Amino acid sequence: MISLFRLQRVFKASQVPRVFHEDSIISGYHPCSSAKDCILSLFQLTNETLNIWTHFLPTWYFLWKLVTVVLVQTAWQDSFTWPLLLFLLTCCIYPLASSCAHTFSSMSPRARHICFFLDYGALSLYSLGSAVSYSAYVFPDKWVNGLFHQWFLTLAVLNTVICTSMSCYSRFPEYQSPKFSKSLRVVAFAYPYLFDNIPLFYRVFVCEGEGCTENDANILHYNHIALAFLTGFLFATHLPERLAPGSFDYIGHSHQLFHVCAIMGTHFQMKAIEEDMRVRRSWLLGHSGPLTWSNTPWPGLFCVLVNFLIILLFSLPLLSGARATKCPGNLQGNPPQRSARPVKP
Ligand SMILES: [Zn+2]
Repeated sequence: MISLFRLQRVFKASQVPRVFHEDSIISGYHPCSSAKDCILSLFQLTNETLNIWTHFLPTWYFLWKLVTVVLVQTAWQDSFTWPLLLFLLTCCIYPLASSCAHTFSSMSPRARHICFFLDYGALSLYSLGSAVSYSAYVFPDKWVNGLFHQWFLTLAVLNTVICTSMSCYSRFPEYQSPKFSKSLRVVAFAYPYLFDNIPLFYRVFVCEGEGCTENDANILHYNHIALAFLTGFLFATHLPERLAPGSFDYIGHSHQLFHVCAIMGTHFQMKAIEEDMRVRRSWLLGHSGPLTWSNTPWPGLFCVLVNFLIILLFSLPLLSGARATKCPGNLQGNPPQRSARPVKP
């Protein structure tokens, strides 16, 4: 029992292969451990521990919310609730995939790439969940049934394919062009987010007069938008650790803050969607097109399938061993003295 909870050794960036390096994080690495060691590392402070918990705990919050909607609102019998269900399902999947990725990515360089492919796929799915619920509840009155509304979901599905492909591809030029790789990833996630929010940005920032759908949900939408931009800022800038490399290795680095802001943003987004649903229900049922299998569950299932295929395609070269690299040395006992500069994303 004592050996089960034996603390694992953690390493400095200069002691681990470059693939594991995070920008301006100098210590707290624990690469190449077994799956059991990865799970036990949840209870030991490494530079990944809080990344894991900041997404693992919220998974249960969103799952509780999903179960509540299913049981209390008898969602299966009411197709008006389906887009909310799909959105909540993606809100459970993305933090769960992220916490799993952060837990097991330290097993090997190959595992790291595949874990983050799955993480990116889940985020891409979340953008589809947002689009489906925005199409159903958030579009301003003026735009409901317009040309953009009619094509919105088709384009959102296409964006999911582009986002997953681009973000997975961004891991390949990581060594040769780290800046290009990071920029590609930022664009891959920012682009579907901005697209999904076109109707909302129009509604809360541009629209004037009749049909702008001003209601109590707007303040919640503002909170969500502010947190979403803060999330993007933290992801892109690596602040605060870039200002003081090594000072935030375990607590307070940008990725942890990025996780917390993303979850808070998703919480406000969920509340705003629920509020729009509540206050606009009768108007939407009378004026918007019907919510059916073709505009809620099918796009979701289609994107799950396509995302898995894309991830499989990007994983095949790694699984075949062409790009797989093994961890040099026994890092648990004798870390290799290999000098490696943290990659600047
Ligand atoms: Zn993360």
